[in-house]
Formats: sequence, C-alpha cells, structure tokens
Amino acid sequence: MEKVALLKCEEYNVQLIEDKIREGFNLLGGETFIRNLIPYNSKVLLKPNLLITEPPGSIVITHFVVFEAIIRVLKDYTYNIIFGDSPGFGESRRAAEKAGLMDIALKYGVEFDDFTESIHVRLDDSILCKSWNVAKIAYESDVLITLPKLKTHGMAYYTGAVKNQFGCIPGTQKATWHTRMPDANNFCKMLLDLNTLVQTDFAILDGIVAMQGNGPKSGDPYKLNSLIMGKSLTAVDSVGVRLIGYNDPLDIPVLKEAYDYKWGAVLPNEIQVVGKKIEEMKVNDFKLCRKAGNFYFISPVVNNFLREMIAPYPSLIMNKCVSCERCKEVCPEERKAIEMIENNKIHIPKWDMSKCIRCFCCQELCPVGAIELKYNTLGRIIGMNE
Ligand code: SF4
Ligand code: SF4
Repeated sequence: MEKVALLKCEEYNVQLIEDKIREGFNLLGGETFIRNLIPYNSKVLLKPNLLITEPPGSIVITHFVVFEAIIRVLKDYTYNIIFGDSPGFGESRRAAEKAGLMDIALKYGVEFDDFTESIHVRLDDSILCKSWNVAKIAYESDVLITLPKLKTHGMAYYTGAVKNQFGCIPGTQKATWHTRMPDANNFCKMLLDLNTLVQTDFAILDGIVAMQGNGPKSGDPYKLNSLIMGKSLTAVDSVGVRLIGYNDPLDIPVLKEAYDYKWGAVLPNEIQVVGKKIEEMKVNDFKLCRKAGNFYFISPVVNNFLREMIAPYPSLIMNKCVSCERCKEVCPEERKAIEMIENNKIHIPKWDMSKCIRCFCCQELCPVGAIELKYNTLGRIIGMNE
C-alpha cells in the first residue's frame, strides 16, 4: 500500500507551505521517512516544471513559493541541493530567472543546472525504451524530487508527477521522442521508463492553484487548495486526477499504462491517503481538457480505431494569433504538419491532419494560447467535448 499525503493549502505563503510540507512528511512517516528519503548530505535535485519562460507565480510553471518552501525543509538534511529543467521551448537559465526561481536559489545557496549536459545510458529492464540520452544531473543525483504543477494536458489529459520528468530529456531531443512515439499510449510507456531511469524519488504536486481547460499552457486558474506528496508518482497522480473529476484513474493514459505494466500504485485500493480525504477536497466544476475516453471492446483494434476517431485536433483561435510561427517551429513531425498561409493579409498556421500525430506541442507551446483542441462530429456526438 502506497501512502500519499493530501494537504489543504489555500495560499502561496512560504511559511504556510513549509509547514504543510513538514506536516506531509510527518504523515508519511516522520523523521525516519525523511532521513531514508534524503540520506545525510546527499545530492538532491529539485525538478520544477519550467515548461516555457513565464513570470513568477504563473500557473503554467512551478510556483516560486513552493520551490522556496521545499528548499527550507531540505536544508535541515543536506547542503547539496541543485535545481534544473529543460523547458519545452526557450533557454533553461532564462526560464528559471524569469520564474523567480534563480533568485531563491541564490538566496539559499542552491546550484542551477541547465540540463544541457547529457549522458547516454541503457535501461534494460524497460517497458518500451532501452536507449536514452538524458540530462546527466538527473541521472547522477542521489535523490530526485519532482515539483510538478497540477494541470490539464492536451495529449495526456493531465500532467503531474510522472509527466514532469519529460523535462529531463535535453532540449530539442524532446521533439524526437514525440516523433518516435506518436501514439499517446506508447508515449506514456516512455514516460514511465524515463522515471525508472532517473529514479524519481518523491513528488510534491502543486494544486494550490491548478490549471483547468486549455492546458498545459493556456488554461485558466482553478483554486484547488491542494498539495499532494508521496514517493509513488502514480499514486500522487491518481489522487490528483480524482480531485479534478476523473472518477476512474485508469481513464488517464499514463495511469492506465502504469496499471497494465504493474509500474506503480494507481487504484484507490492500492493507495492510503493520509491527511485530508479525497471526498473532502475533490471538486465537480473543474474544466477538463479531455473527457475520459476509454472503450472496453474485446478487440484492441476496435478500441484503437475508436480512440483515433474521437481524438481531438488542434484548431486556431484566429483573433489571438500573432503570426509568430512558433507552432510550425515546434511541430516535431518531420514532414511538418503545419504550414503558414496568408489570410486577410496576416500569416496564420494551416494544419495538414494527414501528417499530424496529435502530440499537441503546437497547442502546448503557442505563446498566446491561440490554439485549442476541437472534436470532430463523432467526438461531439458522444460528448467528448462537454
Ligand atoms: S497559432 Fe500561436 S504559435 Fe502559431 S503562429 Fe499563431 S500565435 Fe504563433
Ligand atoms: S501539428 Fe501540432 S499536434 Fe500535429 S504533429 Fe505538429 S505539433 Fe503535433
């Protein structure tokens, strides 16, 4: 049975969040638990979510106050703390500075690593992927603590503790993985393998203000008032998705893969939630970006066919587009599923859906939120867009 601490936390106040994190560790096993997690003076890597260059407090990225609060707790156990990430777009150092994380790191003597130095390693005991290039520091640190933000996600429905480690793939190599794994299920298997490889030890999921709707970049804030902590990434995510309205965690592709491959605890009866109860904290008006869409037919071919039929597609919100062409630039599909065309004297993207692998990188990384997910007729008929 995996333990997950669910804490109510209503504001980004550093003392309050530090107290909550300490309370979480106490609920999970107290001093013994934390000393086992962080052996004395071990090298601890903090992995925030720096998806893109965003200002401090943005709901797209890890909140600087959560980052400061965990450092204040860790300082009791080690002086050897590093942080880093590789954003989906843009330069890592710039993203860390803009987010306010670099100033906090300087204040507490925490080092920064831009994740550009990579190491080539094998993972023989994998679900799917054996050969890897990952950020060297993520592979070599003694303890990896992930600090995800709870958000909706176009391709993966939801992003949290498991998905956050995709940033351990350096720079543009992330796009290659999207091309190699166009199918969301295989992409999720890859994410699980990646976490096995870098041995993510602990997750603190920031759902104080979560992102609903057109996530993971252009959604709206939702005050969920929750911090979720635990050693099992899938158990933390299972609690996260149930809070926002997915009654069955198996509706989330990465949790379904984790369950099928016995990678981690996913089902409610495998997880002991300590602190607050899910029933007390769950909400019923959180805007999901994808409705649960599992079909249980005997034939996997029929399942896959239907899933493809109801999958959303990227669509332009014309009046928001600023013609920056970033969508075309980040599209990982080698044949480029986007071309820029002229429309009423401005340049806008046009999609070729026969080439699109529906990774939604364009929707994820559009700087002004001008791309949303839309459903075709069948998807609408069966209510996927509600
Ligand atoms: S859709 Fe977004 S990323 Fe693409 S050109 Fe318009 S503003 Fe830029
Ligand atoms: S067009 Fe968008 S969703 Fe389609 S492959 Fe390119 S980035 Fe991915």
